[in-house]
Amino acid sequence: MNGYLNTWVLQSAMSTACVHVSHSHLRKVEDLSESPLSTQYYEYKGTMHLHSRYSDGSAKVPEIVGKAADAGLDFVMLTDHDSLDALYNGYEGWHDGVLLLVGQEISPRTHHYLAFDLNREIRGKYRTDYQRIVDEVRDSGGFGFIAHPYGGKKPPLFRTKGHAWTDWSITGYTGIEIWSYMIDWVENVNILTFMYHYFYPEKAIRGPRLEALRKWDEVAQQRHVVGIGSTDAHARPLPIFRFIKFFPYEYLFRTIRTHVLLDTPLSPQSLPESKQLIYDALKAGHCFIAYDFLADSMGFTFAAEMKGRGEYDAPTHLLMGDEAIFEGRADLLVSVPQPAEIRLIRNGHPIHQASGKTLRLPIDRAGVYRVELYYSDQPWIFSNPIFLRES
Ligand SMILES: [Zn+2]
Ligand SMILES: [Zn+2]
Repeated sequence: MNGYLNTWVLQSAMSTACVHVSHSHLRKVEDLSESPLSTQYYEYKGTMHLHSRYSDGSAKVPEIVGKAADAGLDFVMLTDHDSLDALYNGYEGWHDGVLLLVGQEISPRTHHYLAFDLNREIRGKYRTDYQRIVDEVRDSGGFGFIAHPYGGKKPPLFRTKGHAWTDWSITGYTGIEIWSYMIDWVENVNILTFMYHYFYPEKAIRGPRLEALRKWDEVAQQRHVVGIGSTDAHARPLPIFRFIKFFPYEYLFRTIRTHVLLDTPLSPQSLPESKQLIYDALKAGHCFIAYDFLADSMGFTFAAEMKGRGEYDAPTHLLMGDEAIFEGRADLLVSVPQPAEIRLIRNGHPIHQASGKTLRLPIDRAGVYRVELYYSDQPWIFSNPIFLRES
């Protein structure tokens, strides 16, 4: 198990230190003004939303987890179309230090839903009662994310059409897949550039769809909603050029990842506990999306330090995903492992832009705050929001 135990020190002067402890990092956000902060967490990176031979992926589960281990991933969240067979066949658990968790992509004609922590398979085929699907996932103890909401485009050469999510009156989902590698790639290629972009795929990667970001920001102003990043890996042969595998798993595992931040390290000794830690972090939004192919995002932090109303009140420390009533004053803290362009977004609007590795920005208004990072002018990291609500 590759655990990452990071110690991050966000000092008043905003210098950053990272202490590596044995094989892993412990991250600690610490304010040196008065009382040191006790927020520390363990970071793990994984791939979400991918397919094996239990649906339309090209590899068997052991091969997939082997490739995930080679890519240095800590966890894999498999989502075969309308199938929990990988779970029923006993694959959930550790394989070469990689934790495999089995979910399901509930796949009607449109409105695909990535569901996890299910105690039973949920039928997707031929259904149009999408709200009921979301409700059934909840009733079975699970949670879920809207898959590729704006993924309606048909890839050139492929016969299958995309599957968009259009009914935004649906409620009860945990979050939205904000950035999917395959959807981003398909969106930016056409029949003329297809082969060029096959060999230079990174040239077609432009970041999350603006519509997805807008919708996320809009929903976030009403309620807690989590953004995740994914690959939607299938690794099937290309139509016509069948000797070419269309985006192999080993490549995609190095692209868009979701990193989770946990209070407790994962333990290979306990599957139920480790599984719950990852699920709880995802539900809480203690996670971020990173295009790690560009640069390693390990160690990224977005936190807030909210001052109490009283002069002697201890500050409240919030991590991305956290929600609180805004007390009137707060500092937003950003720390990145590599110098990058940092954009702070409030309620969907950019409010501040800076370059560097750290940022401390005082704010005096409630709002839903999140961060976007650009590395060499390319989209790199998208944090989950900190939800500071009006009282
Ligand atoms: Zn899908
Ligand atoms: Zn899929």
